[in-house]
Amino acid sequence: MSIISENIKHFKSLLPDKVLLIAVSKTQPIEAIEEAYHSGQRDFGENKVQEMLPKYEQLKHLDINWHLIGHLQTNKVKYIVPFVKLIHSVDSLKLLQEINKQSLKHNKITDCLLQFHIAEEDTKFGLDYSEAVQILNSEEYKAMQSVRICGVMGMATFTEDMEQVRREFRSLKQIFDNLKENFFKTNSGFKEISMGMSGDWQIAVEEGSTMLRIGTSIFGERNYNK
Ligand SMILES: *Cc1c(COP(=O)(O)O)cnc(C)c1O
Repeated sequence: MSIISENIKHFKSLLPDKVLLIAVSKTQPIEAIEEAYHSGQRDFGENKVQEMLPKYEQLKHLDINWHLIGHLQTNKVKYIVPFVKLIHSVDSLKLLQEINKQSLKHNKITDCLLQFHIAEEDTKFGLDYSEAVQILNSEEYKAMQSVRICGVMGMATFTEDMEQVRREFRSLKQIFDNLKENFFKTNSGFKEISMGMSGDWQIAVEEGSTMLRIGTSIFGERNYNK
């Protein structure tokens, strides 16, 4: 068995059934994705549209669920809407409007997560709670027919301090609970909490994650020079 399939099998044996494993294949070659696919993996995450597109094209014959997990520019939405499974990184009303518009054109409904800024670092994208409330209360959002908000996403600070990471994940869970109570109480589709990467996934699961985004621990170190 290859190391990639071993890693995937290992992860699946450790995870509760209700937690979805997303294999983050950014910078990895097509062969690595195929290998993961053949060991049963179906959900893959990419952080850049320009990298996801050619991979999607080359692997069209496989029933892969593609997750866009990185920052998404409005002008790139049209390229991914036809095939994307879930957009994890919605961080503005303007972006949501464009996803809605393109989805309408393709006669589909696109599933999205609201991305929150939970880390102390100020480099990471994302909303705060009041900005999300503003979006959800807007007339523009209420009129949207072609997007479905399924939950929240966040990235913890890159630190050795696992108590800090835990606090940040806990704050995302709290945001999820508050939104559920105030906006999605009767909406069973609002159920996802996308949090946890290679370095912090155990804590994320303990704090209520439903989707892990794992790159390095499945595929090995990334090579950005290729
Ligand atoms: C790269 C990336 C991951 C995976 O990171 P690893 O540490 O390699 O598991 C998860 N989420 C996002 C948004 C990423 O860009």
